[in-house]
Amino acid sequence: MKYIEPHAHMVSRTTDDYEKLALAGCAAICEPAFWAGFDRTSPAGFYDYYRQLTDYEPKRAAKFGIPHFCWLCINPKEAEDAGFAREVMQIIPEFLDKPTVLGIGEIGLNKNTRSELAIFEEHVQLALDRDLPILIHTPHLEDKRKGTRLILDSLASFSKLNRGKVIIDHVEEHTIGAVLDAGYWAGMTLYPESKCTPNRAIDMIECYANEQLWMNSACDWGVSDPLAVVKCGLEMRKRHYSNDFIESIVFENPKRFLSQSDRFRI
Ligand SMILES: [Zn+2]
Repeated sequence: MKYIEPHAHMVSRTTDDYEKLALAGCAAICEPAFWAGFDRTSPAGFYDYYRQLTDYEPKRAAKFGIPHFCWLCINPKEAEDAGFAREVMQIIPEFLDKPTVLGIGEIGLNKNTRSELAIFEEHVQLALDRDLPILIHTPHLEDKRKGTRLILDSLASFSKLNRGKVIIDHVEEHTIGAVLDAGYWAGMTLYPESKCTPNRAIDMIECYANEQLWMNSACDWGVSDPLAVVKCGLEMRKRHYSNDFIESIVFENPKRFLSQSDRFRI
């Protein structure tokens, strides 16, 4: 099945996973900067992480014939200390001109705190200054609806923001409507234990306009499935969707959003 994995944390995955993705038909992988499974103790830890995302990981993916792109930021989980976060943010511009960097992400909220929100807004401004797309994480453990509301309210204060260049990820049934109604893209994350199952994702596709939706596995250091997107495509086949429609969701939609960066070429 031809598809794009628009959100995967490959630094946590093995080469076996790259092989599985290649065999399944994955045409491109995009990796947002996020928590690496542990808190980094210095900005230098992020410097090396950005090197890994922009240099090492594209080479690893290329061995399996898959183009690898990334998004850069300091994630909300490690942005609670705003002073630390700003030190890390000073490193980011030096990496933004690397050839596989698509935009700013995944920024957002983790515990919906004031400090997280301040750093979120500074990232949005950085993206606006550079005319870059934005990928946004919504909270899982705290109140997702409240976090999404805070994010939408904050974004609304940026009058120059092109909402078609912003994707709000990890939506669920109680947040997807507000995201799409406001003109943003919405991402659905397929996780084995939490977030969204394939059948719930397909139900949401049926209930909402599907032109600004994508699906991802967000596979990372925890219990997650790098093949979740193709498995959902298979589930759509079982529900008698045409191959063209499935491809529009798993390939064409992410391609359209990601192609807003000139660097996304497949
Ligand atoms: Zn993620």
